[in-house]
Amino acid sequence: MRMLIMGPPGSGKGTQGKKVAVDFGIPVISTGAIFRANVANQTELGKVVSKIMEAGDLVPDTVTVQLVADRLAQSDTAPGFLLDGFPRTVAQAESLDQILDTLDVSLDAVVRLVVDAEVLVQRMLKRAEIEGRADDNEETIRRRFEVYLAETKPLLALYEERGILVEVDGMGTVEEVHDRILAALKK
Ligand code: AMP
Repeated sequence: MRMLIMGPPGSGKGTQGKKVAVDFGIPVISTGAIFRANVANQTELGKVVSKIMEAGDLVPDTVTVQLVADRLAQSDTAPGFLLDGFPRTVAQAESLDQILDTLDVSLDAVVRLVVDAEVLVQRMLKRAEIEGRADDNEETIRRRFEVYLAETKPLLALYEERGILVEVDGMGTVEEVHDRILAALKK
């Protein structure tokens, strides 16, 4: 199973991605998590990306695409992989196609978690309160949601055209959403 999971910040994408990856016995490849680990370990890559991440900007494609290419070339991806946070742009999607072509494989499914914006904003506000994150006010949360929708729209159209887009209702408990994803993937 070679797949992507897509969903806005706060949609439970990370949680669901990990569960589905366990089900299929495949690694999760989260570009955000890899970048954060490099920042925490103060690697060369971490030094390059830390300021960019702090500003909330996207890391340049040359860096991100190379990282994904290297990661996908590792042997643990033989049974498949679940990409989380990549691709984020059509250019990245095209680069991913090239990487997969080189490896002689292709994508099987793109799971999109569909969530209600209002519920999501309320959920994230609660989380911000618990974690004491001052930057997570209603306005920035709404803005991030809007930016996400604008960014991913062309990607979703691309994968829908290919017939591999799987839309799943992302509202409900972790188990409910997980069951829906598995049922949708079986089809
Ligand atoms: P995330 O955890 O997916 O929200 O990613 C956290 C940060 O890592 C983003 O705000 C970007 O700075 C960077 N990042 C993660 N994935 C990508 C990507 N596909 N392209 C560019 N930057 C990325």
